[in-house]
Amino acid sequence: MPDARGRYGVFGGKYVPETLMYALDQLEEAFLNARQDAAFQKELTQLQQQYVGRPTPLYFAGRLTRHLGGARIYFKREDLAHTGAHKINNALGQCLLARSMGKPRVIAETGAGQHGVATATAAALLGLQCDVYMGAEDMERQRLNVFRMQLMGTRVIPVTSGSRTLKDAINEALRDWAAQVERTHYVLGTVHGPHPFPLICREFQSIIGKEAHEQILKAEGRLPDMMIACVGGGSNALGLFHPFLKEEDVRLIGVEAGGISLVPGMHAARFAGGTPGMLQGAMSYVLQDENGLIGRTHSVSAGLDYASVGPEHAWLHDSGRVHYTHVSDQEALDAFQLCSRLEGILPALESAHAVAEVIKQAPALSPEKIIVMNMSGRGDKDVEQAARFILAGEEA
Ligand SMILES: *Cc1c(COP(=O)(O)O)cnc(C)c1O
Repeated sequence: MPDARGRYGVFGGKYVPETLMYALDQLEEAFLNARQDAAFQKELTQLQQQYVGRPTPLYFAGRLTRHLGGARIYFKREDLAHTGAHKINNALGQCLLARSMGKPRVIAETGAGQHGVATATAAALLGLQCDVYMGAEDMERQRLNVFRMQLMGTRVIPVTSGSRTLKDAINEALRDWAAQVERTHYVLGTVHGPHPFPLICREFQSIIGKEAHEQILKAEGRLPDMMIACVGGGSNALGLFHPFLKEEDVRLIGVEAGGISLVPGMHAARFAGGTPGMLQGAMSYVLQDENGLIGRTHSVSAGLDYASVGPEHAWLHDSGRVHYTHVSDQEALDAFQLCSRLEGILPALESAHAVAEVIKQAPALSPEKIIVMNMSGRGDKDVEQAARFILAGEEA
């Protein structure tokens, strides 16, 4: 748990304008109440089972295991959750919270559109009004996701300021929230932002690790030796890792986007190229220059392409409990293809970063060892993007 001020060591906190302090306090209280509220928990569990499709399977990837010739590899199949990724776990939980606070409206920010779609879905399910802020540039690139949200009754609001991408959409969402906080809840999409968002998102995502804990004991009679997950904001990784943090024999590896190279602007590996700093209301590792100017980032995967990372990850990094590494665009694309061919599972390009790390780790481990990897989402959304890169690679 974070301390009373929402800090994990020196990281986290809530560095926001006074107008938002009230909303954050109200949210924290609602969340702590909901945790103790049997009716809330019962409804959440029911919807997780009947609507999201939980528990998601823990799948033994036999062909990939044999191909790599080392540790036994399991995938936690968040790609099979409704809407195709783990993001629905958090969106559903937070929309239920909005309703319990008596707020009829939710807003969200979205970059590639995945969190927007998850929030639009949960809002439709619960009959909440939903507005999603999206950079005008991103709306162009993700037209299908824009239409998906609109089909579910969500209004997608184009953001034309700044670089017209995720960072600007977050600013607009925060402005909206401050102006309409009485009737609006801001559904933040990952374990970032001011306290209590990192805590709330982690708690709703921890269902992944709780299930995996039970499932691996049933399948193998013991805990895994290693767990691997990709890290954008860090919610799917914390969701998987959190119930295992106390298990010191389980090695935990978070995988960031190494992009094209570790030259500034060519990647999004915050722990390899970043330094402690402030972004979006929280203290964490940030890609920035020596004047604190936020750096440009790059990744083949939109969900990992962000200049900062959740504050609890910063703390887990500095304490050494979780080991962070990065894989390149090319390694992720190779993993995307190998996993598709051997397992008939198209991973999201984000999840393909985790697969790439499995490909590096598994052969060095003996066949009695066990790896559990989080398949955070399915790759259907990325087929066009992957095809472009793969074909360009073949021509070069
Ligand atoms: C958004 C997304 C991620 C990255 O977000 P985290 O908060 O780091 O989990 C990873 N995988 C998929 C499939 C995503 O949609």
